[in-house]
Amino acid sequence: MLTKDLSEPPRRNLVGLGRDALAAEMAKFGAEPFRARQLWHWIYRRGATDFAAMTSLSKPFRDRLAARYMLQRPAISSALASVDGTRKWLLRFADGEEVETVHIPEEDRGTLCVSSQVGCTLTCSFCHTGTQRLVRNLASDEIVGQVMIARDALGEWPSPQDDRQVTNIVLMGMGEPLYNYENVAAALKIVMDGEGLSISRRKITLSTSGVVPMIRRCGAELAVNLAVSLHGVRDDIRDRLVPLNRKYPIVELLEACRSYPGASNARRITFEYVMLKGINDSPADARELVRLVGGIPAKINLIPFNTWPGAPYECSPDAAIKAFSDIVFAAGYSAPVRTPRGRDILAACGQLKSASVRVRRGERPPLPAA
Ligand code: SAH
Ligand code: SF4
Repeated sequence: MLTKDLSEPPRRNLVGLGRDALAAEMAKFGAEPFRARQLWHWIYRRGATDFAAMTSLSKPFRDRLAARYMLQRPAISSALASVDGTRKWLLRFADGEEVETVHIPEEDRGTLCVSSQVGCTLTCSFCHTGTQRLVRNLASDEIVGQVMIARDALGEWPSPQDDRQVTNIVLMGMGEPLYNYENVAAALKIVMDGEGLSISRRKITLSTSGVVPMIRRCGAELAVNLAVSLHGVRDDIRDRLVPLNRKYPIVELLEACRSYPGASNARRITFEYVMLKGINDSPADARELVRLVGGIPAKINLIPFNTWPGAPYECSPDAAIKAFSDIVFAAGYSAPVRTPRGRDILAACGQLKSASVRVRRGERPPLPAA
């Protein structure tokens, strides 16, 4: 039988440490400050997975690092590729929990859809992720690790300046990023660092179901692009679709959008709107939507509902989506209909982690405070 030496301290993961945290850790380790900069380069620019590869460091120093630290990414439980080129990775963390990350290649860009939580505590009635029983926040290394896994799989080390396959990042995977703000912020600061993964804030979009107080903080501290899951134009409908609306109703949400720093015609706020047959897809809804977003530099993203086993809704017919889009467009807003990508591998919006069991609301764990 194998026995573990319990006197040995656990090795700390260096992946996920920001610049200051890495510098502090190296100071504690007795290394000179420039060592932290060298490590940063190896971890985030070169994508090293092993201290042995860090050839600019002496062998004895590498050995000492390896005895005390690790460079751990999430494990890949499965990797799927869609006929349309979309790829999806199911990733497993040390505690056995899993999330999904999706890469969507397009002509002029490649977007990585990143998860921020295992499951989601918000119970939007059209979203499959919101029906998962197990919920926890991802740590910063588990968020950055998703980007690093994609770079590994796409052969993108050292971080390329041009011709990238991961040009954009959207926090639109599993979870509500503004309910895990600290870890998301720490991870995004690493992702945005010009000497590391080097993906500019202009290419990063955070999607929220409307956690109003955190929208302000996100704008002030991260200034990434904002996407807001609106989905309903009256509080009674939105209360049913996005229950968080009962806490932060539509007027408050739109007020936070109006004052979002950096929002301009060049950097519009995206309003996501899932098209649900007979629920929110009438011409009157479209007109009300236009009225609501008046004065906000906005674009509207219409998302055909992607179904999942047991879903209580149907997708609006094409003609209704077209009519809705025409009204929004005629009012001067861009209103593209999001083409579902990777449906065959259950990688489209709201389909992530479809293997999990639907649970009834009463069986959920209590919600943590926002
Ligand atoms: N929690 C965040 C981000 C993750 S969801 C949020 O809600 O904004 C990313 C987008 O997919 C959101 O706009 C969400 O409302 C949408 N979505 C969820 N389930 C969907 C489904 N079944 N079909 C289409 N879009 C869905
Ligand atoms: Fe959570 Fe977003 Fe799904 Fe709502 S739509 S349950 S906030 S992941």
